Parts: sequence; C-alpha cells; structure tokens
Amino acid sequence: MTNPLYDTLFKQHQGKTTVFLELADGTVFTHRDFLELAAKYAHVFTQLGVKPGERVAVQIEKSPQALAIYAACVQAGIVFLPLNTAYTADEVSYFVENSGARVVLCDGKRSEALAPIAKASGALLETMHSDGSGSFAVRAEAMASAFSTVERSEDDLAAFLYTSGTTGRSKGAMLSQGNLLSNCKALVTEWAFTSDDVLLHALPIFHTHGLFVATNIALLADSKIIFMPKFDVDVIIAQMPRATTMMGVPTFYTRLLDDKRFTKELAQHMRLFISGSAPLLAETHVQFEKRTGHRILERYGMTETNMNTSNPYTGERRAGTVGFPLPGVEVKITDSKTGATLPQGEIGEIEVRGPNVFKGYWQMPEKTAEELREDGFFITGDLGQIDEDGYLHIVGRNKDLIISGGYNIYPKEIELLLDEVDGVLESAVVGVPHPDFGETVVGILVAEADAQLDLDAIQKNIVTSLARFKHPQKLIVVPELPRNTMGKVQKKALREQYKGLFT
Ligand code: ATP
Ligand code: MG
Repeated sequence: MTNPLYDTLFKQHQGKTTVFLELADGTVFTHRDFLELAAKYAHVFTQLGVKPGERVAVQIEKSPQALAIYAACVQAGIVFLPLNTAYTADEVSYFVENSGARVVLCDGKRSEALAPIAKASGALLETMHSDGSGSFAVRAEAMASAFSTVERSEDDLAAFLYTSGTTGRSKGAMLSQGNLLSNCKALVTEWAFTSDDVLLHALPIFHTHGLFVATNIALLADSKIIFMPKFDVDVIIAQMPRATTMMGVPTFYTRLLDDKRFTKELAQHMRLFISGSAPLLAETHVQFEKRTGHRILERYGMTETNMNTSNPYTGERRAGTVGFPLPGVEVKITDSKTGATLPQGEIGEIEVRGPNVFKGYWQMPEKTAEELREDGFFITGDLGQIDEDGYLHIVGRNKDLIISGGYNIYPKEIELLLDEVDGVLESAVVGVPHPDFGETVVGILVAEADAQLDLDAIQKNIVTSLARFKHPQKLIVVPELPRNTMGKVQKKALREQYKGLFT
C-alpha cells in the first residue's frame, strides 16, 4: 500500500517521541502524539462515511488539532479543504456548496450559522473549538490510534485550496499529492532545512503559505515548529531566541521593525527569514538588514502552484525581485494577447510550468481552459520581467494594470516613486473610470507617523519622472491601506471606493 504524501511527510515520524509542535505556553506535541491524533481523526471521518476523494470543509481556528485534521485527510485519502476563518456564513455557503463537501467542521461559535448551510448541501456538521475540543474530539476519543493508510497515487487530489479572492471570486484550486510533494522537496533543498531547524510558525493554516510551505517543509526536513495561533509581536519576540527560521508575510517584518525590542542580538542566531504572499517593499529589506544583519529571502508563489521562484539561499538576494525558478519549475514571460514569449527584459504575463502546477479549478472548466494551457503552462495573472541576471521582478497583477487613453500603466512604477517621497510610508496606485481616458491614475498614500504630506509638492515632484499619461490625477492620504490576512493590498476595494472620482 502506498500513499506518497502520507508516506513521505508523516510515516517517517510514526512512533517518534521527538517534539514536532511546541506551543508558546510550553505544551508540546511529539510526532507520535500528533500522528496518533491524526489516525483517530481519520477513523472519525471514515465512520462519518467520508470516502477517499471526497471533500471535508474546515473552518476552524489554528491549533495542533486543526493541523492534525490535515494529516488525517491525507492518511484517509480525503480532499482537505481549509477555509479562511474570517469568511462569513454566506461566503462559507458558497465554498460548501461549490465543493460538495461531505463534512463541514467548524468552531462551536459558528455552528448555529453554518448548520443550515451544511444541511442545505447534505453535509454533516461537526465542531472543533480553538482548544481542539468539540463534537469531533468526542467522536475521536474512542477511536484506535492507528489507521491503515488509504492507498493513493501522486495524481490523486490532496487538497482544494480556494484562492484569496484578491481579483475576483475565489476559485477552488485542485492540488494533487504530487503537486505538494514536488514543491516541498524543492524547497527543503533550496532553503537548506534540516532537523536542526526550529521554525517560527505564526501564519494561518488555511492558506498555502502557512499550510503547505511551512508545515510540509518542517515535516519533510524533520524540523521542529514553534506553533502560534496568530502573529503576536510579543510572542514572536519571546520565542525568537529558540528558533532558527521564520516564514512571514511582509507585514510581519514591518511590525517587527516597528518594535525596539527586535534587535540584532535577538535575531543573531536565526538562520533564515523568508517572506512572500505579497510584495516586500525594498525599504523593508534595507531596514531589516540594517537592524539585524540578515537579508530577508523573498519568494513567489500562489494557491494554484505552490512556490514558483525564490531568491537564492546562498548568493545575492536581490531586493524587489522574487529570484529564480525553483528546480523543476519553468518560468516564461509572454505577450498577454498573443501568448508569444517576449525577449528578455520585457514586461509581460508570468507563466509557469512544472510538477507544482495544479490540476485545474474545481468545476470551472472554462476558467481552467483560459488559464492553464494545453502544454502545461499556467498563466498566473501576474505581470513581470526577468532581468539580465535572471531574477524575476513582479510588476503587479494583470487585473491591476491601468489602461489610460490606450496606454498601459504599471501601478508599481508609480508606487515606487511615491514610496520614495519623504514622509510617505507606503502607497497604492489604482485606475478609476474617467470619461475621456477610459481610466485614470489615482495614488493612495499612507503617511509615516507624524509626517504631514504636501500633496501639491509631491504631485509636482513625481510628475517630472513620469510621462504625462502616467501622472496621478489625484493623490489621497488614508490612515492605512486595506489588506487581507495575508497582507495583500485590496486594490479591488480601493477601485470600488474611488470609482466615482471623475464620473
Ligand atoms: P485571487 O487569485 O483569488 O485573485 P490571490 O491571487 O491573491 O487571489 P493567492 O493565491 O493567495 O490568491 O495569492 C497569489 C498571489 O500573491 C500571486 O499571484 C501574486 O500576485 C501574489 N504574491 C505572492 N508572493 C508574492 C511576492 N513575493 N511578491 C509579490 N506578489 C506576490
Ligand atoms: Mg490569484
């Protein structure tokens, strides 16, 4: 019997009394504790009638038990479908119905709101609270702590992960065992993870970053995880002396830099800081290195593909870039209209191909056909360029491209100029409807603490560096940019908010 994902990530740890997860309060889960729990959970799913290949939708708080649900699904051959804990009942209803989940596992606090939703799509509702208790745990108590692993192949689906919904409705990406396995193998090698590593884990586990990148790597490399329910700067600072690596979204790093307790000494023995899910400002790179002597390693990935590119572990980590394709992954830059590969240096669609690329969007054959070419290249929806040394630069999303008077405008070019203005902390440039130009440029700025921004002066200053059609028609100061839990700026929301400025 084989189950490649289970056998590679989990089986090697069976019976081991070494620590896998350590919580901030000192509680530990050994590998054995964790796998026995997962086996009990796998029995519960089987008893509830969930068959291999069927889906289990999970909207629960991050906990060791929640992570064991992932392991249980892999062992029982069930497709794991984690959902953002921030989703409302209405939103969850779409995912449950769309995925045809057999079981909905939710926090007790949500059960009243989700019960009718589960019922409407014929799914069973079970609860798991943030401490791991609930109806599911009660069922698990009586179960055996060993489960005979369900046979799977690399082509079988392991998870449905819904995309973050930054550019439109979330899509269910079907990820196979082989997708997940190939990626974590590549990353363990690239980032040199070993059993000596201790990973600070403060990311959510409903998203590819915290779930697959962080967890699968630690399992494969036999690293220990310091497992925190969320990012809390006090806890991170308290735990850092015991860790060797951290994975985070850019906001983790800016929040650490905002804290005076985050010093060179505190980060001294850390081996590696990794960032992704949203662009890391070049400024954050510089400040971080100044403060700690470490250069953050930035990588690029997405729900549909896991990770695609990474700055090098040894070698120059170039700020503002996401590095080189991972082993086995091909990256090309193509013309959005024709699909033809563009000469080096030109801006175009980033396309990727490799064993990491998903099997398609669940029940969206047209969308899949639009984005996944027959030759296996996935059109990411991100625009980028490859510099002369081969580093990939992301210049923004295709859907954020502004077309004004027939000209293409890449928001990032303007954002970089705005970010450099004294007193500007960060910026977002979006296109809004305009009666003459179709769309025009609006710059949204966040000021540094205590800074007063002179918008007329900024406007005069930056226009000297920009062709006329790229000039922002309006600059607006806001206290902060709208971001989701992964630190992604919600440009869709900004466009919506300012759509009436010129019409
Ligand atoms: P949706 O596809 O539903 O609109 P989404 O693309 O934000 O949402 P995710 O799969 O969570 O959903 O995010 C992947 C995207 O995140 C990438 O396509 C890219 O735009 C962005 N991203 C990831 N890493 C980086 C990075 N290092 N720099 C810049 N952008 C990044
Ligand atoms: Mg996307």
